[in-house]
Amino acid sequence: MSRRALVTGITGQDGYYLADLLLKQGYSVFGMLRPELRQDFSRIGPLEDRLSLVVADLRDRQSVLELVERVAPDEIYNLAGNSFVPDSWQEPIEAGDVMGLGVVRLLEAIRTTNPAIRFLQVGSSEMFGQVDEEPQNERTPFRPRTPYGAAKVFAANAVANFRRHHGLFACTAIAFTHESPLRNKRFVVRKVTDAAARIKLGLQDKLVLGNMDAARDWGFAGDYVRAMWMMLQRDAADDFVVATGEKHTVRRLVEQAFGHVGLDWQTHVEVDPQFFRPEDSTTLRGDIRKAQAELGWSPEVHFDGLVRMMVDADLERVRAETT
Ligand code: NDP
Repeated sequence: MSRRALVTGITGQDGYYLADLLLKQGYSVFGMLRPELRQDFSRIGPLEDRLSLVVADLRDRQSVLELVERVAPDEIYNLAGNSFVPDSWQEPIEAGDVMGLGVVRLLEAIRTTNPAIRFLQVGSSEMFGQVDEEPQNERTPFRPRTPYGAAKVFAANAVANFRRHHGLFACTAIAFTHESPLRNKRFVVRKVTDAAARIKLGLQDKLVLGNMDAARDWGFAGDYVRAMWMMLQRDAADDFVVATGEKHTVRRLVEQAFGHVGLDWQTHVEVDPQFFRPEDSTTLRGDIRKAQAELGWSPEVHFDGLVRMMVDADLERVRAETT
């Protein structure tokens, strides 16, 4: 019988890549939808007829319990949550309820229905917040500076405690920023690749950005969901930093994206200080030695290739939309 995986956040970027990977491995994949009628199915569209979709509410203990009972999964991947960090200042209670307590509801449902279910929580480099050391590893202290980061720290602590106290196979992937052609345009990499494509095709003139020296450890979502899956296939549960270990600036991102379509970025990009983020951390860079040594995982797509992949996908999409 095929293994059964439950994936929350199925409609998101990582939901698509993880579901694709799991289906290719022969899993029966169950995707959790939230009850609100505002879902965007465009990302999982190509996979939809091979997925079973189930509705549940991570804010409701009974709903989560019934979900886990009904699906009876072998593995649960918790990807759900608003990934746009600044929104958590507008909705701090929702952030804590869904991304913090929601994880405890899942862990409790596992403990009371079938403690053999393996659980993967997606944590975030935002959990490190203000850091004194670079790069960050699994022992770097968490000092989150946003409600998003605080909720993810609460969740990571719950995962570690349920693992220790109840013996659950529960792990946190401390994921650094990751992108793909499916990334929402609110995030800077996609904003840049989309603009490069639109400017190349004569549909846009300018791109306005904030701090060009802001730097990130940017990876490819397809690589990161592979690490998440590998974490649940080990003999023992543990937490891992999932990153590239490299940092690049917004300036380099823009050079790469515009250069790929033969444009000089300096002609098209304007810098507006109103887009500078006061808490813009440029010190986040992951130390992936543990993932390399113990998981046998390394990222396969590197920064320049990632940017080119996204620009090409945006060119194709914009062309299709306009012809
Ligand atoms: P996306 O924003 O692409 O997808 C988020 C998913 O979570 C969507 O399916 C969305 O559903 C769902 N979701 C949002 N709010 C809720 C809610 N209140 N209740 C239930 N489901 C909700 O994010 P990614 O796929 O990029 O990220 C997946 C996970 O990884 C998230 O937890 C994110 O915080 C974390 N992460 C992501 C990083 C990244 O750079 N991408 C870095 C580190 C961590 P809907 O379609 O209904 O909105």
